[in-house]
Amino acid sequence: MKNIKNGTKSIWAGEKDYLAFGATQVPVVHSVSFGYDDMDEWYDVALGKKEGHIYGRNTNPTVQAFEDKIRILEGAEAATSFSTGMAAISNTLATFLTPGDRIVSIKDSYGGTNKIFTEFLPRQKVDVTLCDTGDHEGMEREIAKGCDIVYLETPTNPTVKITDIERMAKAGKAVGAIVVVDNTFATPINQNPLALGADLVIHSATKFLGGHADALGGSLCGSKELVEQVYHFREINGATLDPMSAYFLLRGMKTLQLRIARQNENAMKVATYLKTIDIVEDVFYPGLEDHPGHDIAKKQMNGFGGMLSFAVKGGVDTVRHLLPKLTYANRAANLGSVETIVGPARTTSHVECTPEERAAVGIAEGLIRYSAGIEDSEDLLADLEQAFQALPKHIHVQV
Ligand SMILES: *Cc1c(COP(=O)(O)O)cnc(C)c1O
Repeated sequence: MKNIKNGTKSIWAGEKDYLAFGATQVPVVHSVSFGYDDMDEWYDVALGKKEGHIYGRNTNPTVQAFEDKIRILEGAEAATSFSTGMAAISNTLATFLTPGDRIVSIKDSYGGTNKIFTEFLPRQKVDVTLCDTGDHEGMEREIAKGCDIVYLETPTNPTVKITDIERMAKAGKAVGAIVVVDNTFATPINQNPLALGADLVIHSATKFLGGHADALGGSLCGSKELVEQVYHFREINGATLDPMSAYFLLRGMKTLQLRIARQNENAMKVATYLKTIDIVEDVFYPGLEDHPGHDIAKKQMNGFGGMLSFAVKGGVDTVRHLLPKLTYANRAANLGSVETIVGPARTTSHVECTPEERAAVGIAEGLIRYSAGIEDSEDLLADLEQAFQALPKHIHVQV
């Protein structure tokens, strides 16, 4: 599907090979096991010499259709999948890191990823160096000291900071490191890390890929050589994607290009609107020209994404009054769904941190994460407007 565009890929990639009985939709194959009458054929499939399925922890046709779709969208040679995004991250790190190894990453990675870096990897005697996100010189210096993995996430959660993938991939390659990028916030529609020099791309498929907040999943894309090693770790350790979830993700992904185009648009309109509101102290969105990562984002992204965040004056008190007044937003911990989702960063992405730790990475107590849905932007802006208007007097006075 080389010359096919993303909208067409979202719909057709990875579907045809898995149809059965003349069905036009990929079937959900719930069988745990796959039987063989021919003992030699069974042996060959079990050894991987012949295509086929043996046992559901290893492979499953519905799950493979999902892997093919994300592989083609990321322009990768190979892909594998996981029960969650965190399983994709932990299995990938566990495959390549052994005691004495070193990983260089950023301070602003996803909360769960940060826990792996600060709590679990040190226990395995892996040296973890976390750089200030966006400090490219500092990160290059750390990488140049030698490391086994360079781990990036861009844009980040929740202040949507941007890292130059091409530049960091070059630095990583120079010391023989594997360069991994968590592409969850951007999706393959907005950003293709492999084309920018990364070795492996991870997704929490739970978010934008599935897009309907009804299934958990994760994926890994890259070269056959690297992906097969992680697949082997996963097939033994068991963080397998369930076929029903794979189906939900596949169905969601058919509208990926449409949804992302709309979410890019809505996020830009909401961010621009929020800039005009007195009570809003700060707006973080890479599409805004005054965002510190704007130029890099413009260079490496096809769209600025559906995620933004904003800080309100009056901190937690304002958040407590504002968010319940929104009609067209779920107040929840997830993101990337068709519905708009809002939540305080202190309760969602950075709930494990102390207020001091949050302040250290620039997360004010009044910071609100906003995941733009696919609603009509006029309605989203009007909804925010009425919520700001309805804030109690003492907040307006304080401001
Ligand atoms: C949600 C998320 C994850 C973890 O994914 P799960 O599917 O919840 O395990 C990893 N990285 C980013 C950027 C995320 O937003």
